Amino acid sequence: MKALDELTFDNRFARLGDTFSTSVLPEPIAEPRLVVASESALALLDLDPEQAEEPVFAELFSGHKLWEDTDPRAMVYSGHQFGSYNPRLGDGRGLLLGEVYNEAGEHWDLHLKGAGQTPFSRMGDGRAVLRSSIREFLASEALHALGIPTSRAGCVIGSSTPVWRETQERAAMVLRLAHSHVRFGSLEYFYYTKQHDELKQLADHVLSLHYAECLEQPEPYLAMFRVIVERQAELIAKWQAYGFCHGVMNTDNMSILGITFDFGPFAFLDDFDQHFVCNHSDHEGRYSFSNQVPIGQWNLSALAQALTPFISVEALRESLDLFLPVYQAHYLDLMRRRLGLTTAEDDDADLIARLLQLMQNSGVDYSLFFRRLGEDSTDIAVRHLRDDFVDMLGFDAWAETYKARITRDPASTQDERRTRMHAVNPLYILRNYLAQRAIEAAEQGDYSEVRRLHQVLCKPFEAQDSMESYAQRPPDWGKHLEISCSS
Ligand code: AMP
Ligand code: MG
Repeated sequence: MKALDELTFDNRFARLGDTFSTSVLPEPIAEPRLVVASESALALLDLDPEQAEEPVFAELFSGHKLWEDTDPRAMVYSGHQFGSYNPRLGDGRGLLLGEVYNEAGEHWDLHLKGAGQTPFSRMGDGRAVLRSSIREFLASEALHALGIPTSRAGCVIGSSTPVWRETQERAAMVLRLAHSHVRFGSLEYFYYTKQHDELKQLADHVLSLHYAECLEQPEPYLAMFRVIVERQAELIAKWQAYGFCHGVMNTDNMSILGITFDFGPFAFLDDFDQHFVCNHSDHEGRYSFSNQVPIGQWNLSALAQALTPFISVEALRESLDLFLPVYQAHYLDLMRRRLGLTTAEDDDADLIARLLQLMQNSGVDYSLFFRRLGEDSTDIAVRHLRDDFVDMLGFDAWAETYKARITRDPASTQDERRTRMHAVNPLYILRNYLAQRAIEAAEQGDYSEVRRLHQVLCKPFEAQDSMESYAQRPPDWGKHLEISCSS
């Protein structure tokens, strides 16, 4: 473990120079205070979580103090927003402070979101509100605990600095950690401004630091693109299997690493709904739950366009064609496991689709269904679950197919089956109403609920003492919360 002043920096992205990012110092927020910290995320920096309680910690992650070896930078990028190209975005309120080199030999970007205005702020104030910072923190850490690749969050620092959104709120900063903050939009920027030398420099940076295994391939850029396609397909398969809706899948919010990145009005499904749109300004439902799959491929084709100077269009097309089969294979694999199946049969896709349609028709709670399916013997579990379906006969027919399917799987004891299923079916997910309750308390200066919720979500698969209430469906007030897109 290291003390805060012992972090080692190696700022590889900053060294690419001013074409790729601009030097900007963070603008401090007033009266900084720790809202919540993630023990496991801080451990990635070799930091003892107890240090988070020290005043200097809040000062470091609120712009008041900087390590000497940091080189804070606003990164340049553009991207496709809701299908249209926006030529100039860039870090308008976040700064890459530097890259920490840890004892395990990994580099972690320290990114401070809400760090004040930059040359890319356009009309924005450069700030992030407490509400959205807490949501990003909780989502990052919850996804990670579910085994879904994501940027991490080290802490949220609150303040007394006022910011205006629909009403007056308070500014906060969230410490985001990732191996890279390069987005699809970072490459798009250099492609569309016809700076192909710089585009190559950035592609080489990503290739050598994050896809080094591709350097040995005959066509390294193509090999890298294929891996990016595969990782994105796997990521989205996990989102779909766990009911995560990203909300703003613009290409500037797509990480080159295939991790969940840049959280806005995201949501985990309560009731299963293919057509769910969590972003209230997404009037056409471009980023609806089920559209995440085709949009994932669309985003990759936008990235492919930016790589046309290095890879033939034909090879890019062939790689893009990998997306759906890779997605489908991961999705089926996860859904089979969620159903307690250990083998694969051709009809499994149909079994899953039929179940989802029944859930859709009856508004069945997506996460609890799977959890409860593993709780008892199959016979008893389906008998209990039946009551949640309006079309009980339809569910009975599905349950008969499912039970027959289970008997063709290698036999396991009920305990084995429960353990296996509970290991992939979370009891606790970050439901909007849980986040909302924690945020409302935090806005009143009480951070205990954010911290408790974070702890619960760190172990989503394990039933925790006296935490039953965190596993419940939303109460009426929490069912259709309007999550503001302003952040
Ligand atoms: P986001 O919706 O957070 O992914 O941001 C989209 C773009 O708007 C990025 O270029 C952000 O840096 C910028 N942006 C968002 N909010 C603000 C803000 N409050 N101040 C300045 N820039 C912002
Ligand atoms: Mg963004």
